[in-house]
Amino acid sequence: MQRSVRVPADTRPSIRGSRVSAEEPMIADLFDVDKRLSLKPVVDFNSYLRNAFGEGPCRCHRCLEGADQTSYALAHTFSFDGRPWHRRFASTAASDVAQVLKKAWLSYTKVDLTLSGILDLTTVQTFTDAALHPRLLALLPASGLAHEADGQWHLQAPAD
Ligand SMILES: [Zn+2]
Repeated sequence: MQRSVRVPADTRPSIRGSRVSAEEPMIADLFDVDKRLSLKPVVDFNSYLRNAFGEGPCRCHRCLEGADQTSYALAHTFSFDGRPWHRRFASTAASDVAQVLKKAWLSYTKVDLTLSGILDLTTVQTFTDAALHPRLLALLPASGLAHEADGQWHLQAPAD
């Protein structure tokens, strides 16, 4: 029986110049603790979160016209690592987030994620790289997939 688990090459600590954040080495450290974190859907979920935002403020038509972001139902521009980031709309509809989250959840917990009711955020954070927690907490409401109320995260089945 094959017992060794290989950490995918793209999650190994690497130095690719000054733009590399602390995220990747931290994932590698976590793999040593919990091998489920090296499951492909879990790795994919973390990659997805990392790529869900692009650097710089949102430059959509509405934002470029100087609309007041506080009037938006869903936020467009965020602050991570002390810099502005924009949500990549094309890949971050509620249904997109739901799809990758469901796969990672099933892979990690071996049970299906029900896309309604209360979301066990603690479990999601268990398989999310700590450096990506701010992106997770931003993307859940910004995509419209979940909202926080009374200290709980409530899932909303994606309409799109
Ligand atoms: Zn915008």
